[in-house]
Amino acid sequence: MDNIAIAITNDGALRVYAAITTDMVRQAQKLHNSYPVATAALGRTLTGAAMMGAMLKNPNGSITIQIKGDGPLGLILAVTDADSNVRGYASNPDVDLPLRKDGKIDVGGGVGTQGYISVTHDHGVGEPYSGTVKLVSGEIAEDLTAYYAQSEQTPTAIGLGVLVGVTGVPEVAGGFLVQLMPGRGPDDDKILAKVEENIKNIPSITKMISSGFTTDDIIGKVLEGIEHNVLEHRKTGYRCNCSLERVERVLMSIGAEELKKLMDEGGETEVNCSFCDKKYTFDTVQLQALIRKTSKK
Ligand SMILES: [Zn+2]
Repeated sequence: MDNIAIAITNDGALRVYAAITTDMVRQAQKLHNSYPVATAALGRTLTGAAMMGAMLKNPNGSITIQIKGDGPLGLILAVTDADSNVRGYASNPDVDLPLRKDGKIDVGGGVGTQGYISVTHDHGVGEPYSGTVKLVSGEIAEDLTAYYAQSEQTPTAIGLGVLVGVTGVPEVAGGFLVQLMPGRGPDDDKILAKVEENIKNIPSITKMISSGFTTDDIIGKVLEGIEHNVLEHRKTGYRCNCSLERVERVLMSIGAEELKKLMDEGGETEVNCSFCDKKYTFDTVQLQALIRKTSKK
């Protein structure tokens, strides 16, 4: 079952997150009817977002990751709340690219290597803030690592993986994230070097999950030879929080004039949720009511 384990090394230097997100990525694939390149790119981004959601301290906080490269997938967007409920989409989910020479899905080719990754923190109070850095490879994990290094000055190691089966359904998905805690101790560099060595030698994240590894097992591999404690397990999953009310607010935000134009076209106006593809329809009477509400403001 999808979950995130959070561990800390006994010296307090490193915090490690491991996630299994197979059900989440399966649901995303189904909702967006995506081809493997988009499934892998979005699945990796959602998995990263879920682990970042576990770092949020305010229960009303949220994080939005936007990846915009020059590849055919267009924008990839993922949102998480503080409970690691995630949602997201890729602009062009039906991009089809040949596999790379090593047999892997060409995520970097789909995302592109020129562009940016932007992460917005909304702490639920005050103004949200965002940091934007250039893409490194379009493979998502390296790009998120670059974001942490350049925008937050936090040394981080990230692994993300989605294995898509021949039918297009994700077989396994997950990831890990290792972060150096602020307030560096004298042995931090040594510990970090040891973890980097471990990461080089462990099987890929999808291989580990395919062979039955739990999130604790993944942490055990990443932190092999380093004393640590698993502090917490939490649930994670795909969840859209759209509602008629939210969609009405979005419609009202385009202004009375635009709404009148829609009404004059007659018939029904259809709005599809980008995250779950749910359809919301508005007839002319409903649009009229929204126009009245807009002008009352
Ligand atoms: Zn929705």
